[in-house]
Amino acid sequence: MAKETVVITGGAGFLGSHLCDKFINEDFRVVCIDNLITGNSDNIAHLAGNENFLFIKHDITNYIFIAGEVHYILHFASPASPIDYLKLPIQTLKVGALGTHNVLGLAKEKNARMLLASTSEVYGDPKVHPQKEDYWGNVNPIGSRGVYDEAKRFAEAITMAYHRYHSIETRIVRIFNTYGTRMRPNDGRALPTFVMQALRNKDITVFGDGSQTRSFCYVSDLVDGIYKLLFSDEINPVNIGNPDEITIKEFAEEVINLTDSNSRIVFEELPLNDPQVRQPDIGKAKKILNWNPIVSRIEGLKTTIGYFKSLL
Ligand code: UDP
Repeated sequence: MAKETVVITGGAGFLGSHLCDKFINEDFRVVCIDNLITGNSDNIAHLAGNENFLFIKHDITNYIFIAGEVHYILHFASPASPIDYLKLPIQTLKVGALGTHNVLGLAKEKNARMLLASTSEVYGDPKVHPQKEDYWGNVNPIGSRGVYDEAKRFAEAITMAYHRYHSIETRIVRIFNTYGTRMRPNDGRALPTFVMQALRNKDITVFGDGSQTRSFCYVSDLVDGIYKLLFSDEINPVNIGNPDEITIKEFAEEVINLTDSNSRIVFEELPLNDPQVRQPDIGKAKKILNWNPIVSRIEGLKTTIGYFKSLL
């Protein structure tokens, strides 16, 4: 039987490349599209030469042409770390808006099911804790994070509009902080920054007083959740993340311990509109997808620290 084809936008990025692996392993044909502005071809180099894998270097804010049948589209293209979208504000807005429009056009043309990678950032600096899918969020549209938050909120809106108006099969995952191998050591996020600083015995830069919280999910758990969501019947957004919440200061201490580092913690200015708390309510994913994260932070961190060590 001919394999089904899945198109993965942002397929050379951190999450996209893990999804390429997952779908190749599940016996799909994978077409990976990436313009490599934050993605890296090293992440997919091991798939080069695989007859079921095709890489297309393309900016999806321009018309997307794919020959032949497409059954599924996973839309993961976007700068996704705060310093990336601060450096690339227009590209971030364009890929969330024009890129998502093009992806939905491709889904309509091919009669494919489209899954949108949305984000916990749609909840902004949340006034409801933990965050449940029915919370509408607290976002500053003109703040520096607004370019990402509003692009993703628009992406959700246009995805639902295509579903309602054109009857496109759509799924929306709201991804909370995720980490693991293939994260860029210098992407500016707390986790790779702290691990690299600790491995080099440099000061650990905690922003603000470190009382803000995050909840970190290991990438293999996230990929499992996304796979289950794609093949479920759920149209409305579903949170996928690990609810194990920790303050950023405690997290910095944990990284120092796990790396046996001599680093000290230093405190720097908190960026504007930095969410004070973040924790997914995953009741919906548990119930309808029968999904639960299984990798503990310590276990996931050990693997990830090993990966970052290999880059030194
Ligand atoms: N953070 C920090 N030091 C850094 C980078 C980030 O203290 O070197 C903080 C950041 O202000 C935020 C948290 O760590 O409160 C998580 O930031 P990250 O960039 O990982 O992503 P976010 O969850 O804010 O999207």
